Amino acid sequence: MTTYDELINVPTFWKKKENFNPERWDIKFFCRDCRKIVETKRLDPNKYIYECQICKWRNISIWTQEWLVDFYEIK
Ligand SMILES: [Zn+2]
Repeated sequence: MTTYDELINVPTFWKKKENFNPERWDIKFFCRDCRKIVETKRLDPNKYIYECQICKWRNISIWTQEWLVDFYEIK
């Protein structure tokens, strides 16, 4: 479970923060290799490293579903 407090420490989050709508908060993990929203496993509780449960790579974007759908044009 990723909390807001964790996410605000992710550098990429800050770049997008101006577009963030807390009322629509819904954290998802998008695997850039699988090209879809996936389940992940956090490898280190002290770091923001997540492993895709499908391909086992760590090419994961963390964002709200709304943002991901927009950015990656998920259909
Ligand atoms: Zn994957």
